[in-house]
Amino acid sequence: MYVTEASADGPTLMVAGGVHGDEKSGYRSAGQIKDWDIDAGKLVVIPEACKPAVEARTRGFADGDLNRHFPDGAEEESQLAAAVWDVVEQQDIDFLWDLHSSYGIYESGDGGVGQALFAPIAGDTGVHSKAIRDYLNAEVLDDSLNDVYDFREHTHHDDGSQDMLKHKVGATLGTPAIIFEATEKLSLDRRVKHTTAAVERFMYQFGLLETRSAIESANDLRYDGDATAVDGRVDGNGTRSGLAFGLTNDADWALTITDVELAPANAAIDGLSDHSYDEGQWTSELHIDSDVQSGLTDVNGGLTLPGSIDLSSDGHSDSADREAILSAGSSATVSLYQFESGGNPVGMVGETVDVTVSYTLDGRESRTRALTLSP
Ligand SMILES: [Zn+2]
Repeated sequence: MYVTEASADGPTLMVAGGVHGDEKSGYRSAGQIKDWDIDAGKLVVIPEACKPAVEARTRGFADGDLNRHFPDGAEEESQLAAAVWDVVEQQDIDFLWDLHSSYGIYESGDGGVGQALFAPIAGDTGVHSKAIRDYLNAEVLDDSLNDVYDFREHTHHDDGSQDMLKHKVGATLGTPAIIFEATEKLSLDRRVKHTTAAVERFMYQFGLLETRSAIESANDLRYDGDATAVDGRVDGNGTRSGLAFGLTNDADWALTITDVELAPANAAIDGLSDHSYDEGQWTSELHIDSDVQSGLTDVNGGLTLPGSIDLSSDGHSDSADREAILSAGSSATVSLYQFESGGNPVGMVGETVDVTVSYTLDGRESRTRALTLSP
């Protein structure tokens, strides 16, 4: 559990992720939200509410489905549920967001509940959920997405009959709650983008944030959400063992990228090696095309994954030891090449890589930005 308290008074928001352990975008989004700064009130985040299920990548855990352990007017039905309920009561929350995902799309006829906000009637939940639905559809969803992905909103009475956390919060305490459901028909990056944008917007409406852009102001370095698996020099046969993605410097200062740490989710992906004596994009492990100075690192003998690239010293070649510098407001393209398993190129479509980028802003202290590539 992570608690952030602002010096200014304000409401208390609780955000839960990982109530269902196989719904990645929920716990990954909550894992980002826990690091946000707030301007007022208190933010309580439980990123992985059902940790055993998150670790096993299953919906439920040994005691069953955590989100059916919250009967109104009775004891919680597992020790874990009781612990979560203790947090709700002890933190005296004013609103709950519970972050989920679904295989399908609500009201599309496929039986799923994705792309929807579910708000039991308590307080002004309906007002919030309708405004956030409209915001997501107008300003967050890519124009290229078909209308079927438009978010919907469903406000309902709160009889506690389904024993969910949100029902008990509403029925027992009269505290408003929203369940957010992303659809697994879209990439993990998009699900996280939609989920975090919804929570951020809510925090602005509810008074925890003074501006509408916590995500971007909290992170000077922004991931463009566009990871693509690419054919490079060696695997021109369609393996697509390289990765390209965009970063944007949202700060008002020049930004220098100093280190890039890579951790593929798939343990079989154990190396990054370009197999070339040349230096440049797709002939070095790391190339960053950026406006003030492009970054380049040719790691001697390749990099063992998970591992970290120090852009200023790879111990190999002076001309390929270069940090990337981005001017204020500029974007850069990062190219990584090539991902391997036991020395063989690995196709990266459908793989996931956690990336931590270290950077400095105009000579100020070093910062890091964690992002997840899921091409
Ligand atoms: Zn769920």
